[in-house]
Amino acid sequence: MDKRFIYADNAATTAVSKRVFNAMLPFFEERYGNPSSIYGIGQDALRAVEEARSKAAAALGCKANEVYFTGSGTESDNWAIRSAALKMSKEGKKHIITTAVEHHAVLHTCEYLAKSGFEVTQLPVDENGFITPGQVADAIRADTALVTVMYANNEIGTIMPIPEIAAVCRERGVLFHTDAVQAVGNVEINVAEQQIDMLSVSGHKLRAPKGVGALYIRNGVSLPAFILGGAQERSKRAGTENVPSIAGLGEAIAAACEDIQGKVKKVTPLRDKLIDGILKIESVRLNGGRANRLPGNVNASFLGVEGEALLLNLDLRGICASSGSACTTGSLDPSHVLLALGLPAEVAHGSLRLSLSEDTTEEDVDYILTALGEVIPKIRKMSPLWEDIVKNPKEYGSILELTMNN
Ligand SMILES: *Cc1c(COP(=O)(O)O)cnc(C)c1O
Repeated sequence: MDKRFIYADNAATTAVSKRVFNAMLPFFEERYGNPSSIYGIGQDALRAVEEARSKAAAALGCKANEVYFTGSGTESDNWAIRSAALKMSKEGKKHIITTAVEHHAVLHTCEYLAKSGFEVTQLPVDENGFITPGQVADAIRADTALVTVMYANNEIGTIMPIPEIAAVCRERGVLFHTDAVQAVGNVEINVAEQQIDMLSVSGHKLRAPKGVGALYIRNGVSLPAFILGGAQERSKRAGTENVPSIAGLGEAIAAACEDIQGKVKKVTPLRDKLIDGILKIESVRLNGGRANRLPGNVNASFLGVEGEALLLNLDLRGICASSGSACTTGSLDPSHVLLALGLPAEVAHGSLRLSLSEDTTEEDVDYILTALGEVIPKIRKMSPLWEDIVKNPKEYGSILELTMNN
């Protein structure tokens, strides 16, 4: 097997596209002015920021003055949740509803608020990683300040029923935020029609650079400022604008939302081919359901396989992938998302996430499947757990049942 290079970790980050790169270039060496300056190159930079805002607004279905640029998806989540909590607490509302499968940017922000006098309800998910609008409706109380539910999950690719959840919140007069970092460009989003109050975006998940994000805040919500200082971002998020990256984000979000159906049609069959091939391997479980799944996401657990060993072996074959989430890698704790599905640690540990893009080819999928076909038995041969499972299958009955190639 000739070694190739296959990037199958697009949920961790993406390559900046040529189109985005070209949109950014003028703002480094030529039109490098500060958008707050009145001379030509300053006003050029200001125009670039406002054009990017208009492009983001057009892609999301809102007004330009409802889009604020930030330093990351994480910052957007922090701003939305912490500022909404602060605002609503002044009306005596100190209850927040979220889910067990949020990104750490939301999870840890809610944990912080729980330690600061807020009460947080963390909704459990079903075995495929979904919550229902009914769960949200049942959890809302008179003192609920905010509901925050991710649009699409970064680990298992589940697309939550966000328009329905948002409708429940709007009807009950509760603010609704969604972390849409993985959804933008993969799912049709229109914040006005879908009754979303706040929505987080990250540049580097949609082919813009790292270190830039956006937060949509519906006019009328009026969140307090998050970073204090100058008058940038209508005095809500101070700091001289990252002009090249903002120009890049505007171009990237326009590109990502131009032809979502085209992307879905191109990537979904490759994802399904990969899933079908993986499920032919013995004792493997698909994490996240087949339906309402991001077009590029594959997540599977291989019993008797250490995720780290799997990643290293795939890396030797030129394949970039992830085990659970990149943030979890480096710690030995199994991912909170996989545990929330009800997986025992033994199954959660052997998990692999492959995230495809519109650049993935059928040959790439074949290559990945061939590599897995070689690597999985090799790792299992060295695994004391797998040896034990093979010798005493009865003792592992419930675990084996979970990995009966669903
Ligand atoms: C990557 C990611 C984030 C964080 O975005 P950054 O720009 O890397 O801070 C937040 N939420 C989800 C779902 C993500 O996938």
